[in-house]
This record gives sequence, structure tokens and C-alpha cells, in this order.
Amino acid sequence: GLELVDLTMAYGDIDVIRGVSMKVEPGTTTCVIGPSGSGKSTMLRGINRLHEPKSGDVLLAGESALKVKPDILRRRIGLVFQHFNLFPDHTALENVALALRTVKGLGKQQSLDVAADRLAEVGLADRAHHRPRDLSGGQQQRVAIARALAMEPEVMLFDEVTSALDPELVKGVLNLMASLGQRGMTMVVVTHEMNFARRVADQVVFMDAGKVVEAGRPEDLFDKPQSPRLRLFLSEVL
Ligand code: ATP
Ligand code: MG
Repeated sequence: GLELVDLTMAYGDIDVIRGVSMKVEPGTTTCVIGPSGSGKSTMLRGINRLHEPKSGDVLLAGESALKVKPDILRRRIGLVFQHFNLFPDHTALENVALALRTVKGLGKQQSLDVAADRLAEVGLADRAHHRPRDLSGGQQQRVAIARALAMEPEVMLFDEVTSALDPELVKGVLNLMASLGQRGMTMVVVTHEMNFARRVADQVVFMDAGKVVEAGRPEDLFDKPQSPRLRLFLSEVL
């Protein structure tokens, strides 16, 4: 599991994450919602230390992530972004296999075998030899997810992975994340897909202005929001 303890993060002098605490139990999915600029992406970047926290702690399986070497931490915590950053001149299979060779040190044939398995898991066995430009945005995003999964992370972080996709491609990626959750992956999913959050999340966290304003079960947050800010947010997005 994953736990944030009074996490504070800043850009220069400005605190943008201000004392965030939350607990993500092993095998559960936490969806993070909130307005633009509330700090959702910054918080994810703090969890795997793409941006170093100012104070507080991140516990991964009970151990301070701030004491784990960043490259090792990023193997244990996978992060998938809105923009997938695949290598354009490599096939889907090679994109996944390359990471297995450089990060996990697998040999060529083994990396290709494992990559093929991971692509099959995300429903892309028949697209393994396509280059990114010959895949749809949703398929490219699934390759990026396969690449992250190939590292066998303990936790997966997703940052608005469907928000750059054409509407008809969103569902396939959401279904993939839902099935990962069902298979017991521990996940933190920043999303503005409220139906997904309601259906898949074990816990929903509402952030505003760098703080957790409300957190709980999806049915409680969506049907009985307590804070005026969450009520306003939901009235704008639902
Ligand atoms: P969105 O829903 O638009 O993605 P967010 O909740 O992910 O928003 P963040 O990107 O984490 O929000 O930004 C939180 C705050 O930090 C914002 O006020 C933003 O302007 C600021 N910020 C983000 N990145 C930087 C940066 N590199 N330098 C300075 N300020 C930044
Ligand atoms: Mg963001």
C-alpha cells in the first residue's frame, strides 16, 4: 500500500501541496478529483519523486519512499501521463521491450517475450508490430500502460490518461484500468471521469487548493457531498 503523511510540496516559495495525508490500502483504487490547478499532478509527481517534496512523507509498503533511490522508486511506482511519450520509431513491442532491457536488464529475447505478454494483457497482441503513428491514441495509451506494467510496479499512478483521447477511445482505456484494479493492482487515478470514479474507486479524494477537502467512499462523496466546495465542483462537472 501507499500512504501520504502531511505531504507538502512547493514550486519556489509557493506551497501547492499543503499537508496532504491519505492512505491507499493494498489492492485498492483511489480516484483523485478536483479543479484545475488544485495540485493533483504535483502530488503524483511527489509520490514518485519527479518533484521532491518539501516536507512530510510518502510510505510505500510502510517504508519511507524518500529514502529509496529515485530510479528504484520509479520501478516500484509506475506513472502514466496524459501524453504517452512512446518512441516514435519503435514498434509497440519494442517500446515495451526497450524498457525491460534498460530498466530491468533483461536480455533481448526475454524482453521481447515479456513485452508480448504485457501487450496481450492490454488487448494489443495484434498491434505489436505497429509504430505509434499507426495506432489510435487509445492504443498508444495502452502501450504506455503495458510499458509501465512490464516493470511489475507495486503501485500504479495515472494522471488524466484519457483526457487527450477522442471520446470514442476513452472507454477502452478506462476498462483496462478497471480490470487492473479488479486484478488487485494498487492504483491512484487522477481523473475527471466521474462515472469511472463512482464505478471503480474504493476511495475518492477531492482536492482543492493543494489540500484534501473531502475523502471517502464514492457513494458518499458523490451523493452526499459535505463541503460547499465539493458541491460546487460536482455541480460544474456532473
Ligand atoms: P490540472 O487539472 O489542470 O491538471 P492539477 O490539479 O494537476 O491541475 P498541478 O499541475 O499539480 O494541478 O498544479 C498545481 C499548482 O502548481 C498550480 O497552481 C500550478 O500553476 C502550479 N504549478 C504546476 N507546475 C508548476 C511548475 N513547474 N512551476 C511552478 N508552478 C507550477
Ligand atoms: Mg494535472
